[in-house]
Amino acid sequence: MYLEELELKNFRNYRTIKVEFSPQINVLIGKNAQGKTNLLEAIYVLAMARSHRTNNDRELICFKQKDAFLAGRVTRKLGSLPLEILLNRRGKKAKVNHLEQARLSQYIGHLNVILFAPEDLLLVKGSPTVRRRFIDMEFGQIDPRYLYNLTQYRAILKQRNNYLKQLQQKKANDLMYLEVLSEQLATFGGAIIVKRLEFLAELERYAKEIHAQITQGNENLSFKYESSLKEDLKSTENEIIADLKKGFANLQPKEIFQGTTLLGPHRDDVVFEIDQKNVQIYGSQGQQRTTALSVKLAEIELMKSQTGEYPILLLDDVLSELDGTRQTHLLKAIQGKVQTFLTTPGLSEITQKLIKEPKIFHIEAGT
Ligand code: ATP
Ligand code: MG
Repeated sequence: MYLEELELKNFRNYRTIKVEFSPQINVLIGKNAQGKTNLLEAIYVLAMARSHRTNNDRELICFKQKDAFLAGRVTRKLGSLPLEILLNRRGKKAKVNHLEQARLSQYIGHLNVILFAPEDLLLVKGSPTVRRRFIDMEFGQIDPRYLYNLTQYRAILKQRNNYLKQLQQKKANDLMYLEVLSEQLATFGGAIIVKRLEFLAELERYAKEIHAQITQGNENLSFKYESSLKEDLKSTENEIIADLKKGFANLQPKEIFQGTTLLGPHRDDVVFEIDQKNVQIYGSQGQQRTTALSVKLAEIELMKSQTGEYPILLLDDVLSELDGTRQTHLLKAIQGKVQTFLTTPGLSEITQKLIKEPKIFHIEAGT
């Protein structure tokens, strides 16, 4: 798939623009603070109905304006599809084919994006939150069901944590109600974990291959799902749900004492290993970067295999963070098949590595 055109009104520092993109490589050039990242962010918002850098939609609206509007046309195998997002102080509306979508989980998935920014090099080095966010954002785009389960899970988790706090402070004492919440949480939690295991196994296969190419067969990358469940992770959804329920029963006094939920996918993590050693702990800087790059590139292939089409790729300032070999691998992996938007302060180094002329956009103060 690719994004044919984009129209923005009052989005960040853009007043009104309408641009047509190349289905291949689009290069955004400009000095600092001119709007390069804002443009990538706009594409991300059009895909995900939310920003990758803020939870507050209001920040996306141009200063002193009441609302922002984003529209794009996506070309997919089945034809071309208009997407629209309207943001104002009261909230947002998302339309597919000019029809407003009641649930954002129905909107997401029409334009699939993978964003790669310098922070993503933290995928390996960073906290489990970074990895969970990565998994949830990417798998959510592939599978609307995953996204739905996740939304439900988060809502119940919030309720359950509130109730645990009330129990902790002796403002409530209904343990039956806690059990109802535990049961619901286990049901959605089990569904989430099962999907994560399935997608991670496939992602691992691609990442292994890509990593071996980058390291010329010298390193063997593998993943390990680290569950907050004490027992070994079972493989079927029902078994996992049963284990979660058992876990909640065992942990009850501890959870009430701490006033929070200690078990479930929101506490799980993925460990990346090279030759069976945790890269986060034992890996060098270079190994951590290569692992992050392999995982990101693998995600492109996972999306292709699950949805039948390649996603689009947003690269914000990453090329300058990678050395020559890794730059070459990245560009080789995407050229000719993945529509790419990349920001750079200057053209010189990358154009030599591109097989085809990119479409170049000079960005200055939101134009
Ligand atoms: P760099 O090369 O430093 O990363 P950039 O071109 O990526 O720069 P952006 O992050 O896209 O820069 O744009 C930053 C500019 O957008 C800032 O000058 C900021 O003041 C402006 N900006 C951010 N939010 C808004 C908003 N809501 N309304 C108007 N302008 C905004
Ligand atoms: Mg930027």
